[in-house]
Order: sequence, then structure tokens, then C-alpha cells
Amino acid sequence: MRPVIDRDRLAALRAREDDLFVRLHPRSAELAAQARRSLLAGVPMPWMTRWPGSFPVFVDRAQGARFTDVDGIEYVDLCLGDTGAMTGHALPEVAEVVADRARHGITTMLPSPDAVWVGEELTRRFGLPRWQLAMTATDANRFALRFARHLTGRPKVCVMDWCYHGTVDETLAVLDGGRVVPRPGALGPQVDVAQTTAVVPFNDVDALEEALATGEIAAVLMEPALTNIGIVLPEPGYLDAVRELTRRYDALLIIDETHTLCAGPGGCTRAWALEPDMVVVGKPIGGGIPAAAYGMSLALAERLDGPMLGHDIDVAGVGGTLTGSALALAAVRATLSVALRDEDFAVAVPLAERFTAGVADAIAAASLPWHVQRLGCRAEYWFCPPPRTGAEAAAAVDEELDGFMHLWAFNRGILLAPFHNMALFSPHHSEADVDRHAEVFAEAVTALT
Ligand code: PMP
Repeated sequence: MRPVIDRDRLAALRAREDDLFVRLHPRSAELAAQARRSLLAGVPMPWMTRWPGSFPVFVDRAQGARFTDVDGIEYVDLCLGDTGAMTGHALPEVAEVVADRARHGITTMLPSPDAVWVGEELTRRFGLPRWQLAMTATDANRFALRFARHLTGRPKVCVMDWCYHGTVDETLAVLDGGRVVPRPGALGPQVDVAQTTAVVPFNDVDALEEALATGEIAAVLMEPALTNIGIVLPEPGYLDAVRELTRRYDALLIIDETHTLCAGPGGCTRAWALEPDMVVVGKPIGGGIPAAAYGMSLALAERLDGPMLGHDIDVAGVGGTLTGSALALAAVRATLSVALRDEDFAVAVPLAERFTAGVADAIAAASLPWHVQRLGCRAEYWFCPPPRTGAEAAAAVDEELDGFMHLWAFNRGILLAPFHNMALFSPHHSEADVDRHAEVFAEAVTALT
């Protein structure tokens, strides 16, 4: 359902915001022009082109819940590096150990004593007893899938329609009239995803059972709530059914907590007492230093430990020379020692609740058919009533409106996460930050309607 928004009015407002953006950012404009001479599309990484505004804004520094751009403008950061900086930027404790490791050796291919602390802490938080490090959540997902295929001898993975798990080939797939096809925009698929992947709608127990009953599924890889197509929460009993079915059909259940760590120190796995065979965490656990991890049950670990991790493991497809470095482990230890703890969520979650209430009020006041959803310290508004599946959420994507809302907020000193309307809260945000967003959001809605 598309919201009832006058498109001419929207276009006129957008043009005004585009002008304002250009006027506010002369130094970023210069750097953007320069960058186009050496970087593809003028950015170091493709999706940096997806910000609203006619060029990317270049950042100077970030601290806590704020960052400053090269034109000297300070922003409230509700994007927090799309979760990579969920702890808040530039934690002093992390800065200190990173500097120390930089002076005393970053990478050796040998474990550092911090590895022991990290393994124990991840076990304490998520309940899974054996862990491995990876560089990114994408890597962790790829390795988990590789182990799953190896252990089960089955060819396919099952994912949720409109999921996102990083740049994992098998997961860049959606349903199109019941067929598995590459996700719109997926570049040069290396093999037909229909050969590697089963896709099922979130919250659809029957579809999952049908996929599992083929006997082809090595693992179900899923977020406990979808977070990459708005927030789609599981219906009561759904995750229990997923666990029961994966057990019944001998498929592994891999829970990707990369984003849903917003639900608490042990993600939804801990908060909702889930019992995955494997769990993946990434993004914020290194306080911004690239690090990810995947945990597994004892039953899996016992099957993997031994000949499996034998002579050829260096070329087994589970790797990354810089993975598990002393730098990464020191950063994870420092981060998990001072951040993403119960006491941190006790500050951040009420801020997300306040955000949700403010946005819901403005939506209700304007009688718009939009909604705002929250999971822990993450909240997101979407231009439709609460969806049940990823496809329902995808049908409500409205690029024009989305770009306008982002740019309106950005021109008023607030950064939302790109590609969707997500706000993430850290203990470094304040109620005043939330209230400022509520005010800016309500002004945008008034201008539109
Ligand atoms: N899993 C989920 C649920 C994600 O949302 C993402 C990235 N947004 C990833 C994995 C991949 O993380 P990264 O890009 O750091 O590899």
C-alpha cells in the first residue's frame, strides 16, 4: 500500500531540500568532485552512493552519539554505522587497546591471551559453548554455511524472503511468484540461486516445512526478526516452530544476530531463549574494528573437532589471514567489557521506546497508514501497516519518500540509517536527541500532508 502523499508536493519539497544540502556542504562537494577522479562512483565502497543528497558528505570525526562533517556541521547519529558503531563511536577503552596493539604487534597467526576471554564471554552471553572468529558477519555466515553443508552433506540453504545476511551469494535470493530468483540488484550471480537456495516467507511455518521436507536443506539461516526490510517481528510460536521443524528434518538452525544484538547483550538468542545450532555475531563487537564470530553447540563442535579440522583446514574455505588477530581480539575484549551490557541496554532501550512513541504520535496525528516498529534499542518506521513478511514490507518501499525523509532529517542535523528508516540508540544518546528527531519528523509529516 502506498501512502497518500501528493507526489508534486513531495517533488517540490525534495528540490528545496536538495538545494539546502548543497549550500550546507561546500567542502564535501569539493572532496566528492576530487574523489570521482580516482574512485569508482567517487566512493570507496559502492553503497556510499545511496545516501540522499547529490554527493556524499565526508566525515571528519565521530564521538559517542555524534559526528562532525568536513564542513564543521555536527549531527546526532541515529545510524551508528548501520550497527557497526552501536556501542557509540570512539570508545576510549577500545581506542586505548587498539593503540597499544598497534604498537605491540597486530597480527601473527598465533592466538593472543585475549582469545580465551573472548570465547568465554561469547559463551556467557549467547549460551553456545564453542566459538570461532571471523572478520565480518558476511564471513561468519559463509563459514557457518560451509560447515553446515559439510556436516549434513546436503546442497541447499534455506533463507527468509527479503532477508539480508551480507554478501553471501546463496542469500541474495528472493521469491518471485513461488520461484527462487536473484534478489533485484544482485550483481553477476555466480550460480543460479535456485540451485543453492530455498527461500520461504518469514512467519510461514507451512512453507518452511515444505522446503525442509525436500531433504535438501543443510541449514536454515535467519534473523530472529527481519531487520533489513524494516523490522518484521516473529509471530508468537513461529520461532518455536522453526526450531521444532529444523530438528525434525535434521537441518541446522543458524541464527544471525548481527543486527538483533539490539535486543540485549546476548541478542534475541538470549532474550527469547532460542536454541540455535549456530549463532553469528558481527559488526559492533569490535567497537568498530572489523571482527565477527560464530558460535556452535557442543554436538556440532564435537563433530567438527578432530579430523575435520585436520591438515587441509588452511585451504578448506574457512579462512581469512587477518582473522582472529591480536588487534581484533583486543578490540572485542575491550568492547564487550564496557559496552553492549545490560546496563548499556537499560539506557538505550528506553530511548528507542521514546523514539517509537514520538514517531507513532506524529503518524497518528496525520492519520497516515504508516507504522513504527521497535526491537530493543533499534526502531524503524515504514510506509505501511506492520507487515507479516518481508515481501509485504518490500511492497511498501517508497524510494521517493524514503530519500526525502532522510534528507529532511539530515539537513536538520540527524542521520538515519540508509536504505531504510532505522534509528539505533546507544547509551550516548539523550532524550533531547530523541525529542529533536520527533520534532523534525513531525515537521516533515506536516510539510508533506
Ligand atoms: N547479517 C546481517 C543480519 C546483516 O544485516 C549484515 C549487514 N547489514 C550482515 C550479516 C553482514 O555484515 P557485514 O557487511 O559486516 O559483513
